[in-house]
Amino acid sequence: MPCCIDKIKSPTREEYERWQKDGYLGTWEQYSASKQRDQGGRVFICGDLGDHCADCAGFGDFLCDFPVGDGKTCDRLMCDDHANEIAPEVHYCAAHLKMWEEFKAAGGVAAELANVVAFPKPR
Ligand SMILES: [Zn+2]
Ligand SMILES: [Zn+2]
Repeated sequence: MPCCIDKIKSPTREEYERWQKDGYLGTWEQYSASKQRDQGGRVFICGDLGDHCADCAGFGDFLCDFPVGDGKTCDRLMCDDHANEIAPEVHYCAAHLKMWEEFKAAGGVAAELANVVAFPKPR
């Protein structure tokens, strides 16, 4: 059974909605109260949560969207600390962020955007 360490951050609408999607039934008030109480701490969560981040024990909330050919993406699992958001809903792992930055620095963005390769459709 995988265990994750989740850092407790301040309450956000975004996360509340994510919780709700995951089946959380509390109100916004309950959600933010529990967040406030525990803020800055860390919780261990064990259970059927899927795998944790490839780089730490955080929640694997994001997959690297870097295209690796054949319509596939890198899919490295990352927590929100290790995911690098390069565009809305597009996240790259550290290694691919570096490649992306070098690619951008080399002036490759316009050509790549024209092919819509670097920005796969959000899932
Ligand atoms: Zn991580
Ligand atoms: Zn990657």
